[in-house]
Amino acid sequence: MFLTAHTSAALLIATKITNPFLGLVLGILSHFILDFIPHGEDGAIANKAKTHKSMLMSMFYLALVDILIASIFLFIFFWQYQPDHYLIFFVTVFGSWLPDLAWGSVEMFKLKTFNWVVILHHKIHDLLDITYSIKYGLILQAAFIALMLFLIWN
Ligand SMILES: [Zn+2]
Repeated sequence: MFLTAHTSAALLIATKITNPFLGLVLGILSHFILDFIPHGEDGAIANKAKTHKSMLMSMFYLALVDILIASIFLFIFFWQYQPDHYLIFFVTVFGSWLPDLAWGSVEMFKLKTFNWVVILHHKIHDLLDITYSIKYGLILQAAFIALMLFLIWN
């Protein structure tokens, strides 16, 4: 899923807990739970890209836009919610980003020792072998983000 979706889930979790370590663990867990749900984005990238390098570059640009939107989302959240315990929010959001950051770093910097991170991430991602169009994936993720926002602010 996009980091924006992971971020919205992490923010909701962070509003319910008081322990930063728990936030980190739940942030990481929430990432894998959400990635487990088929969300339609991989096919679009893999089909368009001709080489592994062009796939990585497309994913890199997509990730940049995603990080930008997630950051704007974080900013609005802090501006509106003004949480007392900043650390919990940052650590939980960091946890929810960590599996993708680790996977991206292993791919980018060819960190062979940590290849298991990529394998684990892909395994969880592909457990349910259901692929569908990015259009529906975007609708699903937008609906999920809207639900998280609703639960945070209500
Ligand atoms: Zn992921």
